[in-house]
Amino acid sequence: MLITKEVEVNITNRNKGYYNELNYNCNNGDIIKIDVKDLFKGSTIVVECLCDYCLKEGINTITPKKFNEYNKERENFASDSCYKCGHKKEYDILKYKNDNGLLSIADRRYFTFKENRLKELKNHIDTFGTITNLRKFNKRLYSEILRNKETPTSLAIEIGYNIMDICSKLTPHYFDDWDKFELVLRELIKKFNRFPTQAEITKELCIGQQHINRHGGIYEIKRKLNHIDTGDLIDDNGYYNNSSYEYILSQWFIHNTNVDIRRNVLISDNPVIDGNYNCDFVLLLPDNNKLWVEIWGGYRNNQKSNTFHNYNNTHDIKMNLYNKYQHKLISLYPEFFDNKKYDSIQIALYELFSDKIECKHKSIDVEKIIPYSLVNEQEIINQVLSYSKNDSYLPLGKIINKVNNRLMKEIVKRYGNYGEFSEKIGIPMEFKKNKFWNEDKILEYFNLIHSKYNKLLNRPEIINLKDNCNLCKDLSGIIYVINRYGGLINLQLKYLINNINKINSNDIIYLNKVINKKTKGIKQEHQIIAQEILEIYNTNIA
Ligand SMILES: [Zn+2]
Repeated sequence: MLITKEVEVNITNRNKGYYNELNYNCNNGDIIKIDVKDLFKGSTIVVECLCDYCLKEGINTITPKKFNEYNKERENFASDSCYKCGHKKEYDILKYKNDNGLLSIADRRYFTFKENRLKELKNHIDTFGTITNLRKFNKRLYSEILRNKETPTSLAIEIGYNIMDICSKLTPHYFDDWDKFELVLRELIKKFNRFPTQAEITKELCIGQQHINRHGGIYEIKRKLNHIDTGDLIDDNGYYNNSSYEYILSQWFIHNTNVDIRRNVLISDNPVIDGNYNCDFVLLLPDNNKLWVEIWGGYRNNQKSNTFHNYNNTHDIKMNLYNKYQHKLISLYPEFFDNKKYDSIQIALYELFSDKIECKHKSIDVEKIIPYSLVNEQEIINQVLSYSKNDSYLPLGKIINKVNNRLMKEIVKRYGNYGEFSEKIGIPMEFKKNKFWNEDKILEYFNLIHSKYNKLLNRPEIINLKDNCNLCKDLSGIIYVINRYGGLINLQLKYLINNINKINSNDIIYLNKVINKKTKGIKQEHQIIAQEILEIYNTNIA
């Protein structure tokens, strides 16, 4: 704000005309007082003004400046600033330009305005469909966003994008950050209207099992989110178990023994000294003794996370307590449950506990010990096929092992092995890209088997061929390709049709087994073919 009202002007030849036009009637050499309003805009006479910015804060800062500079500074934006407030005025000018569409992306300070950052980010996402590559393709926008202490994701959410749409293509490590992971998990919960399964999380976020493990595994994640699903890991006693291992063990106890079992019991009677450490299962034996059962951590492979260190500490402290009080302890580790069929787990549990407590050896329905939240068969199939280039074939088992070890473990648990899974669901496995095997080759090898063992071998026998003959080495791959040629039974029947003259008493037994459906996987067409072979054989003999 200009505070100078009047100024004295030296009249010269150059300005005489200008002031006489304003009726000052002056001559060369005069010194006249004039209203500052009449002062020539280009004059270098010094005037005083108050800083408008300081004024707003109730401070009077008088700043002298040449009148020509005063006018120039007000060209773009009519406000006065002291030296100190220069940046505030600069911002006002920029803002004025921006509001009036005078600021272009080429301007150095274009990204000063959040609306421009939002606008350009929206352009980027609409073009690329993702924010993954922002850093690569729009380095300037990316660094401007970071400079303003924002993140591309937070801005994208602000624009109104569904986080799932743009995050699905983020690098998996993006989700190593718990806060980010939590954010998308909450979105997923909204999307599914329940807690998503592991399969759904890995699929939706395009991450691997290992990224879920990094946060302590699916159940740990649920606990962190305070998310308890009805029925999820709640056993038939209504107890909420902490892990699938606990759930399996609990269900097994519930259905196989009448022993009184307490959950989450303090290891020490003196927690003030020893700390509040609980045992998962305590069995109250008839002789008044107690049997303590501990399932140690479900995510010990996860060496990077803090969880691991906490876990290790806890493990050691608890072990010391068990020793101190000489509790009779049974320790179970993930290996006890992993890579075993659910049926085998039940047998192993019986073997472990049968000499310690009174328990039945009643195999409970597998469905009862598969935790509710684990994937169902269709989900397993979908997930396996998601790793296959072609939906007609399952990818190689070693691929599943590598990209989704947990999935393979689940398959082994349910079906015994990958081959049986393939057989059960009726989708053959893709085989290695060598051209070694074809139907003739397989039949040729059946011939070798037949002459060596005097019979055809079933699947387990082929798998378990242990002697080191050349035959077995070559045979190692056969089991993986037979499904491609109609399956083992089909091929064996084909062999027998082609070799009626070699049929012996073992083969007759085999054919009768097929006819009477005494082996797994027999279909009606097999029965018919076997019947025909027997008839041809009998006719030939006759
Ligand atoms: Zn100021």
